Amino acid sequence: MTMLQSFDPATGETVWEGEIAGPQAVSAALLRARKAFPAWAALPVAERVAAAQRYKAALEARKDAIAQIIARETGKPMWETRTEVASMIGKVGLSITAQAERAGDRQSAMPFGQAVLRHRPHGVMAVLGPFNFPGHLPNGHIVPALIAGNTVVFKPSEMTPATGAAMAECWAEALADHRHVFQCIQGARETGEALVAGHIDGLLFTGSAGAGAHFRRIFADRPDVILALELGGNNPLIAWDSADVDEAASVVVQSGFITTGQRCSCARRLIVPDNAFGAALVDAVAGLADRIVIGAWNETPEPWIGPLISDAAAQAAKARFAELVERGAKVIRPLNGVEGRSGAFVTPAILDVTGIFVPDEEIFAPVLQISRVPDFDAAIEAANNTRFGLSAGLISADDALWQRVLVEGRAGVVNRNRPTTGAAGSMPFGGLGESGNHRPSAYYAADYCAYPVASFEATDASGNSGALAGKLRA
Ligand code: NAD
Repeated sequence: MTMLQSFDPATGETVWEGEIAGPQAVSAALLRARKAFPAWAALPVAERVAAAQRYKAALEARKDAIAQIIARETGKPMWETRTEVASMIGKVGLSITAQAERAGDRQSAMPFGQAVLRHRPHGVMAVLGPFNFPGHLPNGHIVPALIAGNTVVFKPSEMTPATGAAMAECWAEALADHRHVFQCIQGARETGEALVAGHIDGLLFTGSAGAGAHFRRIFADRPDVILALELGGNNPLIAWDSADVDEAASVVVQSGFITTGQRCSCARRLIVPDNAFGAALVDAVAGLADRIVIGAWNETPEPWIGPLISDAAAQAAKARFAELVERGAKVIRPLNGVEGRSGAFVTPAILDVTGIFVPDEEIFAPVLQISRVPDFDAAIEAANNTRFGLSAGLISADDALWQRVLVEGRAGVVNRNRPTTGAAGSMPFGGLGESGNHRPSAYYAADYCAYPVASFEATDASGNSGALAGKLRA
């Protein structure tokens, strides 16, 4: 029996230990999910909605415990993990509304009877989750998929199995009679590979762009498998003008450093004018970054950010940082460890990369790369100079510049005078280019969880011969 463990990145303490699902266990879970599908899909949607409401109640009953589990596994402070659990709870109502609005039944009268639009579930959905929002993000696939009538086999990130297990407990309570409708299997990439290679009708994935590209290739010739990919980015934030430099710096710091830079929507690239405002803003951002409280999830005063997910993640980020410095980047704030802390802790870093070649890669850590540009044309060009297109932002009071960003920018989330990480479950969330595959999640998840069926319907066959009248041989 091979075991999986998760650890608190702040202390190295073991948080969870359990069995890894090998290929046979994965096949067995998929078979159970397939057997459970017809009865679940045949239920009236109101019954599946009722199950989702029971899941919501189960989450509510455990909300503090789940917030703590997420905090321990990811290192995120409790203020943030409480928000994450609140989003999970809120997802149920949003998904019910979205399902009705985007994937509900519609009918309109026709001369012969009626035209009816219905939505049908795909079947067995595999869900693979990331570590950074280990509850909220897979939840954003699972809830709409189940309401639509699919069955789900979910593999949480190998870094956050306890969060997945807590979600499974809530679904078990909600689904009592339909317990194989949702199953959680644990393991790392090999378990994910077995799941993806199994008999599935959809893969709903939130994770890295590299894994997403791999799945696009695997399923290139499988139009029968629905693929929804929510991937990373190399997100630009253009900070062009602000009457209040400190307010602008707050937007930048929140965009770049929240969740220790481990949000897919974090700004990685700050584009500023090469003038006095640009210089003042960079100073203000560096000053604010100095004052960020960093600590473990259960410390007082409560930190704003915790460690990275692991020592290995910190080492990888430091290697990327060193590579940029070697290429000629100027260090404004280094990516240092924190004295007396585990190796997963890092300080937010700022580099000036103006004029040097920088690989178009996501650094999933608090590393902000500044480019100084001569004019707004150059700013837009720099912002769009990426193969990704997840989030982007503009700090400016100038409506004309905002219009230019809206028209010329290429990203799925484009914010103005707000952090690039600002997003709502009542809106779609997804990216262009290598950030996804045009199947945005959040409010639009209902779209990829069911396929539309269009029907012309008459109660009997009368009235059809008229179309052939006069065009038939005697
Ligand atoms: P990851 O791609 O390493 O892993 C995500 C999940 O996929 C895990 O469960 C992992 O075990 C599994 N997996 C990875 N490779 C696999 C393979 N070849 N076959 C089968 N399963 C595989 O991602 P991560 O490090 O957990 O998460 C961080 C990444 O996710 C960042 O790139 C971030 O930008 C991205 N992300 C995107 C969004 C979004 O909504 N667009 C949201 C959050 C995170």
